Order: sequence, then structure tokens, then C-alpha cells
Amino acid sequence: MTDSRPRPLVAGNWKMNGTRASLAELEALWCKLQREPACDVALCPPFTLLAPAMDYTDHRRFVIGAQDCHPEAAGAHTGDIAAEMLADLGCRCVIVGHSERRQDHGESDALVRAKAAAVQRAGMTAIVCVGESAQERAAGAAEAVVQRQLDGSLPDGAAAEAVIIAYEPVWAIGSGRTPKPQEIAAVHRTIRDALLRRFGDDGASIRILYGGSVKPDNARTLMAVENVDGALVGGASLRADDFDAIIEAYR
Ligand code: PEP
Repeated sequence: MTDSRPRPLVAGNWKMNGTRASLAELEALWCKLQREPACDVALCPPFTLLAPAMDYTDHRRFVIGAQDCHPEAAGAHTGDIAAEMLADLGCRCVIVGHSERRQDHGESDALVRAKAAAVQRAGMTAIVCVGESAQERAAGAAEAVVQRQLDGSLPDGAAAEAVIIAYEPVWAIGSGRTPKPQEIAAVHRTIRDALLRRFGDDGASIRILYGGSVKPDNARTLMAVENVDGALVGGASLRADDFDAIIEAYR
């Protein structure tokens, strides 16, 4: 039997953090990754830093991605940014459906799905976020919620290389709390089974990231959980030392 496990990915999400002074952290990461990382690496800074961030991709040790996009390719949408514009800049991936956008901007599964389709249309990879709230977990509904979000947020015909799932329990984001490894394993199993049902054998090679309070001191444990193919990292991606330590968990 061939091993269809995907190469892991550690992706950083700077959220609404960073000015040009923060490019020093990107440069520090660039230096650290002169040695070949044992996983793929992506970094998603705010829109304002995407263009200068491209200067640090020359050694191809990491790719740059964005944190959101508009579903349409162009038009009268003041303040929005199309996937095609991000691809034109050199972005390789876009996070869609992050819980902060679902909450702060009322994004529905249908909108997330349209954004993911736009990312694929523009030739990039969509990192589609799903995850339950604390109340939903307490009610024993974590897996049902994730299943429902997946059904609604994933575009049809998503090719394995054009989609990544990030399981991010809302209560674990920025809280310093994480689910137990067996709880993560159960949700990732549910996601894997859903991907296999939806995409056949291709579902085995779609990466499923875990996100929510991943830090240098818990990365190795979390990344060892079955069906965890990498991490989506918020706060700890802001400092090159911490982000690199998480990347090194794959060494
Ligand atoms: C995130 O927002 O995607 C995230 C995982 O944040 P943190 O690592 O800070 O919990």
C-alpha cells in the first residue's frame, strides 16, 4: 500500500498585526529557513505587507498567503480584494472562513464556499477553517458542527492540492487552551472521513491542519496526533523564533 499521507504544512496567520517594522521578523525567518525545513511553510501577513513579504520568498522555503478575499474577480466592491489580485502579487494560498471572519463579519458557509472557489479559480490553495464554539463542544456537538461547516464551505471538485482544511476550535484560538490529543484525533477522523466520502481517494491527500494555541512547547505533541497534517498558527507566528520552533517540531 502506498503512503498517501501529505507533506505537513505549518502556516502562520498574523491577523491584523504588523507594520513595516515587522518585516524584520520575516527576515529573521528567512535566515532560519536557509536550512531546509522538514515541512512546507506558509505565512499570511496582513494585506499591507503582502507585497514587501514577496522579497523574502526567493529561497522558496516558504510561501506567502493572504487572510481573506472577495468571491468575485473584479467589480464595484469598495475596500475588497479579489483572489486574482492576490495571485497576481505572488500569493500561493488564502485563508477563508476563519472564525474571526465568521464572527466579526457574519460570514456564512455559503460565502466561505464562494471565497474558496475564487481562490481555486485564481490558481491558489484555499485554507478553509472550521471549528466549534465552547458551547457547541460542551453540548457534545463538535463533530456535527464541523461536519456541517465542511459540507457548506467546501466547493465541489476541490482538487487535493487546491484545498487545505484547518480545524480550529473557536475556544482554543488565542486562549492558551487546546483540546486533548484524543479530542483532536476524533475531529480530524471525522474530517478525513468526510473528505474521503466527498472526494474519493483524493480525500486522503488533502491536508488537515490543527489550529488554536499551538506553541513551541506543545507543537510536537499536537502534530503527532493521527490525521494532523500540520498547524495553523496565530500568535506564535508573529515571532520568528517561536514560529521556527514550531516548524522544527517536524524535524
Ligand atoms: C488562529 O487564529 O488561526 C490561531 C490559531 O490563533 P492562535 O494560534 O493565536 O490561537
